[in-house]
Amino acid sequence: MNTNEIMALDHENIMQTYGRLHIAPVSGKNATMVDADGKTYIDFTSGIGVNSLGWCDDGWTKAVETQLHNLQHMCNYFYSESAGKLAEQLVKLSGLKRVFFGNSGAEANEGAIKLARKYSLDKYGKGRATIITLQNSFHGRTVTTLAATGQDVFHQYFYPFTEGFKYVPANDIDAMREAMTEDVCAVFAEPIQGEGGVNLLDENYAKELRKLCDERDVLLVFDEVQTGIGRTGKMFGFEHFGIKPDIMTLAKGLGGGLPIGAFIAGEKCEETLGAGLHGSTFGANPVVTAGALEVISRVSAPEFLAEVTKKGQYIIDSVMAKSPTKVKSVRGRGMMIGFVVEGSTKDYLHACADSGLLVLTAGKDVIRLLPPLTISYDEIDKGVEILASVLK
Ligand SMILES: *Cc1c(COP(=O)(O)O)cnc(C)c1O
Repeated sequence: MNTNEIMALDHENIMQTYGRLHIAPVSGKNATMVDADGKTYIDFTSGIGVNSLGWCDDGWTKAVETQLHNLQHMCNYFYSESAGKLAEQLVKLSGLKRVFFGNSGAEANEGAIKLARKYSLDKYGKGRATIITLQNSFHGRTVTTLAATGQDVFHQYFYPFTEGFKYVPANDIDAMREAMTEDVCAVFAEPIQGEGGVNLLDENYAKELRKLCDERDVLLVFDEVQTGIGRTGKMFGFEHFGIKPDIMTLAKGLGGGLPIGAFIAGEKCEETLGAGLHGSTFGANPVVTAGALEVISRVSAPEFLAEVTKKGQYIIDSVMAKSPTKVKSVRGRGMMIGFVVEGSTKDYLHACADSGLLVLTAGKDVIRLLPPLTISYDEIDKGVEILASVLK
């Protein structure tokens, strides 16, 4: 089928909840994709930070395929070697204690919310279930994670939302202190807000926040669904702050392209969820966890992470060297990059796509790049050429 035929099929039969580009990808290798009409694109999006090792990486494909020929699914009444090994790696790399596997970012955050509320209930009883999140955050699309998301546009239509969330501006420790009343059990924050506009949390703020949470036994939860797994040049975004959260959530880049989410509890709350209190039919799927193990073993290598930092800086420097007049500023870490632009981000996105480059937008004025962590310098150069000319 060609692109028009695939589009027609979609328009006729699928809920039109996405503003899609007129592109139907059919095959890819690393950061290069071919669509249904045979047109080639450079990919600066990795499927919104999901294809950490690019399209159809050989090692990842082999890990997934090998497992696929043994067992495709078993239910969670049984033990799984690949899930156990993946959890072991995540625990070792994060310094946290225990992992729960689900299937998406929203589901990971839902789990973390349950965990935080039960921790507080066990220790302090009722009336301490409020969770503070940051303005401009994004935590997911379920009814509860929409409520957790600190953006008014997401609090429409689907009433009643889950209660017990309040929002404070990021990087304002006084506002946080004031909001941290007796009824608060947890704070959620992204180390870098992805959907909200590639907004960095200050290191000092993170340290103060850690202190504040410790003083009041409020759990600090980092939503690392987008920043985790090497995206920022460290395995986890929180490593930039020199502190540790009590709970971390992961999803996007963890599976390298297959659906997985996880929340990881530190020592305070590692025993909080016992038998029968949480579950997921598809969680810890052996094929998915086998792929994730390959992702982790590759990405966690110090040389690999150093390359992520280097390539991120190289992208920024190469774009800026071409004096793109529409760029007002640039921010980010590693290969999570935001160009703040003047003009319509939508128009730039379409202009890039027309010229064979895939990019993302974020917030109201940001062109966001989340290239596969394995992207080659040759692919970067090709993409930068297009991006810089579009932003001129
Ligand atoms: C994408 C994202 C989510 C939601 O993940 P889904 O897998 O789409 O449910 C949650 N938090 C952050 C920070 C994200 O970037």
